[in-house]
Amino acid sequence: MITSLNDFFDQVLRTPATLRDAAVATLFPSACRVCGDAIESWRDGVACSACWHEIEREDADFYPKCPKCWATLAGASSVETGARRRHLCERFAFDFARSCGPYRGAMRETVLLLKRTPHLPARLRGALRRAFAALPDSCPIESIIPMPLYPERLAERGFNQAEVIARELAELSGLRVNSTAVIRVKKTERHRAGMGARERARSLEKAFRVRAPRLVEGRVALLVDDVMTTGSTAGELARALLESGARSVNVLTLARAMNEFGV
Ligand SMILES: [Zn+2]
Ligand SMILES: [Zn+2]
Repeated sequence: MITSLNDFFDQVLRTPATLRDAAVATLFPSACRVCGDAIESWRDGVACSACWHEIEREDADFYPKCPKCWATLAGASSVETGARRRHLCERFAFDFARSCGPYRGAMRETVLLLKRTPHLPARLRGALRRAFAALPDSCPIESIIPMPLYPERLAERGFNQAEVIARELAELSGLRVNSTAVIRVKKTERHRAGMGARERARSLEKAFRVRAPRLVEGRVALLVDDVMTTGSTAGELARALLESGARSVNVLTLARAMNEFGV
């Protein structure tokens, strides 16, 4: 019998997850930010299970992907688009990039929330675990490096969302997070869809500085971020790490967004 508020919470914590979810949904009704339906499990964060399922199905489906940059190859609508995409992809200094799913629907809403709250819902943590386990094992990862934020932006936000992801990966892999070896020394604009490759490259020139090369020398690094769009930022950081002696650099992001070239 429940006699106090503490007893009530004790009782809630001992309740099986499904009953607890039902209780939470009743007490704190929340609508899916994608479709507006009720969210039935706290594990799903800000989107409902059906919307997550859509993302998971899309990622696991039959679309062939570029083995290097993980762009969906089905979108290359012309020979010219395909050629431009290959040209950009070949220049990337990283060996390969992987993601947990496309940047839309449940994934997009969750990534947007992560910029305001340093928390990953359990469902996304599961996806991250699967994506990490599925990384090509040709190069065993030795160090996890979160994409650094420009200091001013870090101060505004109070935390680096890439570091939240990196910490999660460190917990499940036992690897260390290396968040001090490299810093962002240039405030870069978010890459707009219409920006040309040359313009993007120029805006990123000397954007990163490896201040502790001994922490990257001879190591295989996994670069971690929330979203990869063009791949140019990850490519530029990978280049800086390789110039400082890293053995190789791979990339893992929560989401993969496509620009108009699908790159
Ligand atoms: Zn939904
Ligand atoms: Zn590619």
